[in-house]
Amino acid sequence: MEPDVSASSAQAGPLFARMAVIGLGLIGGSLARAARESGLVGQVLAADRSEDELARGVELGVIDGYGTMEEVVSGADLVVVAVPVRATREVLEQIRPFLGPDVVLTDVGSTKGSFVAVVNEVLGGWPPRVIPGHPIAGSEKNGVSAARGDLFADHKVILTPPEDVDADALSRLTSLWQGCGATVLTMSVARHDEVLAATSHLPHLIAFSLVDTLAGEDQNMEIFRYAAGGFRDFTRIAASDPVMWHDIFLSNREAVLRVIDHFNDDLAQLRQAIDAQDGDALLRVFSRARAARHHFSKMLSGQAYVTDMSQKPVRFRLQPGGSIAGDIRVPGDKSISHRSIMLGALADGVTEVEGFLEGEDSLATLQAFRDMGVTIEGPDNGHVRIRGVGMNGLQAPRGPLYLGNSGTAMRLFTGLLAAQPFDSELTGDASLSRRPMGRVADPLRAMGAVIETGEGGTPPLRIRGGQTLSGIHYDMPVASAQVKSCLLLAGLYAEGMTSVHEPAPTRDHTERMLEGFGYHVHRDAATASVNGGGKLTAGRIDVPADISSAAFFLVAASIAEGSDLTLRHVGMNPTRTGVINILKLMGADIEVSNEREIGGEPVADLRVRSATLHGIDIPEEQVPLAIDEFPVLFVAAACAEGRTVLRGAEELRVKESDRIQVMADGLKAVGVETTVTPDGIVIDGGQTIAGGTVDSHGDHRIAMSFAVASLRATGDIQVNDCANVATSFPGFVEMARQTGIRIDAQEEQ
Ligand code: NAP
Repeated sequence: MEPDVSASSAQAGPLFARMAVIGLGLIGGSLARAARESGLVGQVLAADRSEDELARGVELGVIDGYGTMEEVVSGADLVVVAVPVRATREVLEQIRPFLGPDVVLTDVGSTKGSFVAVVNEVLGGWPPRVIPGHPIAGSEKNGVSAARGDLFADHKVILTPPEDVDADALSRLTSLWQGCGATVLTMSVARHDEVLAATSHLPHLIAFSLVDTLAGEDQNMEIFRYAAGGFRDFTRIAASDPVMWHDIFLSNREAVLRVIDHFNDDLAQLRQAIDAQDGDALLRVFSRARAARHHFSKMLSGQAYVTDMSQKPVRFRLQPGGSIAGDIRVPGDKSISHRSIMLGALADGVTEVEGFLEGEDSLATLQAFRDMGVTIEGPDNGHVRIRGVGMNGLQAPRGPLYLGNSGTAMRLFTGLLAAQPFDSELTGDASLSRRPMGRVADPLRAMGAVIETGEGGTPPLRIRGGQTLSGIHYDMPVASAQVKSCLLLAGLYAEGMTSVHEPAPTRDHTERMLEGFGYHVHRDAATASVNGGGKLTAGRIDVPADISSAAFFLVAASIAEGSDLTLRHVGMNPTRTGVINILKLMGADIEVSNEREIGGEPVADLRVRSATLHGIDIPEEQVPLAIDEFPVLFVAAACAEGRTVLRGAEELRVKESDRIQVMADGLKAVGVETTVTPDGIVIDGGQTIAGGTVDSHGDHRIAMSFAVASLRATGDIQVNDCANVATSFPGFVEMARQTGIRIDAQEEQ
């Protein structure tokens, strides 16, 4: 039979003609049942010291039959030892005489070093068809009655094969576990025992110990009566089988002792911090742990950082009319929040960030720097404190750096890591893993970087450290702020000058923030250059309010009669102010005051009052400067007198959604006709915005744009699929309501 790891054996015939299970308990019984149910094994026989269990196994349909060790093992082509770890030696000694020459032998024990030691002693070596295994699945129950055919579905099974493993045996055993629904990983025996000591054995030890301590402290158990849910969750594993666990600790002694010592040291430090009333130290550890917990759950499930699995669909309900008034500050700019982490980590000194927006890019970057030894506290209500390690202070991460769904983080990191003395690997979620990274890898290679990509230039990216980079001049074939930033970051470490020329203007937040951190960037028309070898100096950054978020309120106050609104501390980066320029061309009344500079970025306060807008031909040079703001500008156009024409905006058709089409569909749903063109749209203003139901297609900017449109509508508007708004603009609904939009957000049932 052709072993095929991925194929379902139902069509290919059984993988093993006869499986012998020694020890028909929870795990042995569950594997027997799953193997039988999937048809992967011709016949399943079992041996156990309890005849009752075996008879129950037949009765429950878990096995085909049972017998003595000799009867079930002779003639079996797969033998699974599923007895408690301490019984392994006895069982191996008993079955050894009956093992056929081609038999595959495996086990399910929770420790692997002890199994291999016994194999070596009893079988006189570690044969290539003996493949130890450990399913990471189980329950607190024992015995065959608790066996379940789906116990291993969506769980992991670790195999620890010998170096000279028989490939066919490994492939068939892998297929068997996969056929039971498990994901199979292979690793060395030592690694298995260490990983399990840390992630399973130590937590069990702590749970047993904690419950015992508390039970001993309070003889009448009064204390448990007040135990909250957290205690119950945390100590659930103390209900596990004591005999099995005493076995596990004795057989994985060394690895467990190492991790207990490590934990003891850390616990002693926490004790010391409490004793010394050192709140900072406690906060540092707790915030690092909380972030790590979040990071691991994202990483393990391969998700983006801002994906919230518990997120329910949200719908906006809007009543028509209203006017806008107040004095507000919208959340911080995403790109600037992100870069504040990067440069803060590489700076000398402590960088304090206020107004930080927790976007995908910044959260991914924050975690990656933590993985490289940078202490970062927060984010906590927009406040982040970064203890910079200096340009050469990053430490090699212990594993791949996981960047969720952030393409920006991956591209910027590639430049930064290409220049570090250590090797690194960058990975991301499924969607990031499909995005091409050649646009950054190619010019970096020209600088001397050594970068391996996956097929088609996609992640994972493996970056070889210790290379000396040389500055280059790079003419970007396509304008991209990410490519430019990546090369400039590499350029900080390169010999000589690195310069990047852009064919069209792109956002220049990296250049400005470098200047803000005291690193000179030479800018000459469309070329930005840095000289390698400088340093960054930490400071305080009050992240400017995001102009893309402010845009909704600029349009809202312009179109709603009787409005007067002040927006504070808005980022006025000239590569982003297209929305203000366009609105002003349409006749908007926007007053800019209190202009100043924060961390290299211009900011200002904006006062906007209602005005009669008129349609315009949007100047093409403004299009790249307002690319994210067009959805709400379309609402402004619909409320203007005359025709507005947008051209040169092909990029908008390939954003989170085909923004032009989705906006046109939404406008149509509320009675406004438009004409979509290949690179833009034509909107005749002055049509009545009626009520209706709009599908935002999960595009946060479109959802918010229709909230703004309600101000001039004649009927109720409902916008579906609005959950993403909470990530790009936390607090939008409250702020919209506070300023005068009649909005309610409801979870869809
Ligand atoms: P279990 O339900 O108690 O089953 C073990 C079975 O083996 C029992 O029927 C037991 O009989 C029998 N047995 C014990 N000594 C024997 C011997 N010398 N000869 C023949 N049969 C013997 O235990 P389990 O939970 O399935 O655990 C089995 C193995 O799986 C252990 O090595 C454990 O480390 C591993 N494992 C367990 C879990 C879990 O969550 N439970 C998870 C992963 C791996 P008696 O009842 O008469 O003792």
